[in-house]
Amino acid sequence: MPITEKLYYKNAYQQEFDAQIIDSFEKNGWVYVGLSATLFYPGGGGQPKDRGWIQDQPVLDVYEQNGIIYHALKAFPDKEPVQGRIDFDWRWDAMQQHTGQHILSAAFLQIASLPTVSVHFGEETTAIELDASAIPESVIQDVESLANRIVGQNRKVEARWVSHEAVDQLPLRRKPPRMDRLRVVEIENFDMTPCGGTHVRTTGEVGWIKYTGSEKIRGRWRLHWKIGQRAVRDYQQKIELVKHLSNLLTCAEETLPLQVQRLKEQIKRTTRQMRQLQKDLLTLTLENIERQGMPLGEYRILATVVDWDREFTKALAEQLIQQPDLIVLLICASDERLYWFAGSGENVSVDIWPILSPCLPLIEGKGGGRDRFYQGGGRRTPALSDFLNQFVQRLKEELAHA
Ligand SMILES: [Zn+2]
Repeated sequence: MPITEKLYYKNAYQQEFDAQIIDSFEKNGWVYVGLSATLFYPGGGGQPKDRGWIQDQPVLDVYEQNGIIYHALKAFPDKEPVQGRIDFDWRWDAMQQHTGQHILSAAFLQIASLPTVSVHFGEETTAIELDASAIPESVIQDVESLANRIVGQNRKVEARWVSHEAVDQLPLRRKPPRMDRLRVVEIENFDMTPCGGTHVRTTGEVGWIKYTGSEKIRGRWRLHWKIGQRAVRDYQQKIELVKHLSNLLTCAEETLPLQVQRLKEQIKRTTRQMRQLQKDLLTLTLENIERQGMPLGEYRILATVVDWDREFTKALAEQLIQQPDLIVLLICASDERLYWFAGSGENVSVDIWPILSPCLPLIEGKGGGRDRFYQGGGRRTPALSDFLNQFVQRLKEELAHA
C-alpha cells in the first residue's frame, strides 16, 4: 500500500500542490480522498489541522491513518491529478504559534527550570501549562523578555530526521517517543525538541510574543500568550480601546486610572446621598399617606394608586403595615403594566388574601405572598377603580361578619 508524501515537511511555505488519488471511500455523505502527496497538516502535537481547498471544494476534515492522509470533501474530485491549496493565513498563524511556543517552553526551562506539561493552541491564545504551585510575575517577565530577545536575534529554525540510535546523543528538551525515526526541531543554539509540526524558518518570523494572563486548572498553571500577528492585532485593539475610553472620560490616556478612581468615589458618594434622600422621602410620604387612611371599624384602610416606581412603592407598603391597625393596598401603574402590594398590620384579625384574590381578574392580575404581605402584577384595565372599590367592599363585608 502506498503512503502519502508529507509535502509540508519539505517546505512549510508551499501553498499549492498536485497529487494522485491513492485511496478513497464514502461515509455519511462525505467523500474521503487519500492522496499520493499533500500540504494539508492532519493535526497533531497540539497544532490544528490545516484548512483549504481541493479543486476549489473546501476540505471539511483531514486525518492520517496508516500513513495515508485523507481529505474529506462534499463530492468526488472531477479530474486527476487533483489540485490542492491550503489556507495559508491559517497555516502561517499556526506556524507562528508553534515556533513561539517552542521558544517559550525553552525559556521557562532555562529561566525557572519549569518544564512544559502540555500546550493548547487556541484560536485566541496559545497556552502553556506548567506544573508549579506558583509562578512569580518576575519569572513570567524574564521569560517574555528572553523569548522576544530570541525572536530579535533571528535564529535559524530547522527540522531534521534522526535515527533511533542517534537520538540518545541529542540534548533534547523533552523525552522523545520510541520511534525508528524521530523528527527533531532545533532553534539555533537555544532549543532542540522532538516535534511533528510545521515551523517558520527563522525566529524573527515569529514576531512579538506577549503574555496576556493565567489561570489555574486542576492544580497547574495555564499561561496565555498572544504570538505574532495576534499580538499586533491585540495591540491595535488595545490602543483603540484606550482611545475610546479617554474620549468617553475626556481625559489624557495616562490619567485614565485616576479618572476612573474619581468616578467610582463620586458614584459611592452619590449613592449614599440618594439612599438618605429616599429615606427622607419615605418618611415624608408615610406621614402624608397615613393621614389619608380611612377608618374601617376598629381598623384603618388605605387603598390607592400611586405613581412611584415599583421598589419605592414596595418599601412604602412594607413600612405602612408596621402600623398595627392599617390595611394597605398600593398600586403603582406605569403604561400598560401595573404592580400591586397589599398587607395588614399585626392587630388586623382577618387574612386579606382570600378577600383580595377574587378581585384580581379585574386587572388580569396574579400574585401571592405570606406573613401578612402580598404582591403581584397585572394590567392597567379600565376596571382598575372597580378593583379598588371591590376590595374595600369585600373587606367591609368580611369585617361586618367577623
Ligand atoms: Zn512542537
